[in-house]
Amino acid sequence: MTNMPVYMDNHATTRVDPRVVEAMQPFFTDQYGNSASVGHAFGWDAKDAVERATQTIASAIGAQAKEIVFTSGATESNNLAIRGIAESSRRKGNHLISVATEHKAVLDPLSRLSERDFDVTLLDVEQDGNPRAAYLDPQEVADALRDDTALVSVMLANNEIGVIEPLAEIGAVCRERGVPLHCDATQAVGKISVDVDALQVDLMSFSAHKIYGPKGVGALYVRRRQPLVRLEPQIAGGGHQRGLRSGTLNTPGIIGFAAAIELCQAEMAEEQSRLADLRDRLSVGLSESLSGVQRCGPDLAERYPDGTPLRLPGNLTLSFALVDGEALLLSMGGLAVSSGAACSSADPQPSHVLRALGISLERTRSSLRFGLGRFNTAADVDYAISAVTESVERLRKMSSLTTE
Ligand code: PMP
Repeated sequence: MTNMPVYMDNHATTRVDPRVVEAMQPFFTDQYGNSASVGHAFGWDAKDAVERATQTIASAIGAQAKEIVFTSGATESNNLAIRGIAESSRRKGNHLISVATEHKAVLDPLSRLSERDFDVTLLDVEQDGNPRAAYLDPQEVADALRDDTALVSVMLANNEIGVIEPLAEIGAVCRERGVPLHCDATQAVGKISVDVDALQVDLMSFSAHKIYGPKGVGALYVRRRQPLVRLEPQIAGGGHQRGLRSGTLNTPGIIGFAAAIELCQAEMAEEQSRLADLRDRLSVGLSESLSGVQRCGPDLAERYPDGTPLRLPGNLTLSFALVDGEALLLSMGGLAVSSGAACSSADPQPSHVLRALGISLERTRSSLRFGLGRFNTAADVDYAISAVTESVERLRKMSSLTTE
């Protein structure tokens, strides 16, 4: 059964799972107290519920509850981590290291810091054509570290091409040199197993709306033991969350975040294999029905030596020769995907991620990102194959008519 229109943009956001909505519901209508209200039962109930939810979220990533700071989403978490470290470690140094393929929520705070005498190094990744395209070699990090490096920030899974970076190895490199490591794990948490100790990360951002939870709530993991990480708060106020991020806690959001992460943990193995099968079906279907289709990012079958895949199961980014991605996107009313021409509606630039892989501007502009998720079915995939095939053929015919 296909519910129209078909939603295949699950890296942008996800539908809230009905089980999550159910868990949140009482916190709008009955248990609506402020978790910081210490003088009555409404406040105590909210505080208890938030504490239980925090424990659930912390356990899902191998952390302790007191290491979780709630934010409005991963953008804020990234800002708190990067600016917070930069401002608290000025004495140590002003060198910051990250990667050219990071999300703008990492690159923009870094670029603002570079205007305030911070020195930012952006590392390159394996180039297009390599079976490990977009992979960051940990040696690149080791070579870039300096005595004045205050922070390294590397994402775990990329939101455009799905590559999973070797964070544990990068973590080991940073730990050896005593440099804090921040990880934007927004596309990874809930989808692949994530453990802050195994990855040796000191700060980690993630967000509820990417994992079938509500929008407007995210978290930053801040390590409090071996080593204790010190951050300069970016939002000051009532001293909530140990002064790291003031503001009344979003109780329904936090409850929903915990319910969402718990479902992801319980269903992860099954969901990973189901999504990888759907992704392969989509990839094979489109490559067989159209010419000039190229994959962006690592090979679908590429794996790490321990057997774990090098990319997220639900991601597929393809370019379609001789077609404008934006025109293709707009010509398919029944299918919601996104294009590399303008990677998000808030940012009309061609995808900096595809460009960082050395993919030409023309190919970047002809790419589409498919983000498969929990509610997609094989029938959705078959619909996507026929919708894309039909639109690509029509657009190619039109452009050949205009160039004849
Ligand atoms: N980082 C990555 C890798 C993302 O994919 C996103 C969402 N597109 C963000 C950060 C920002 O997350 P949020 O919408 O929760 O602010």
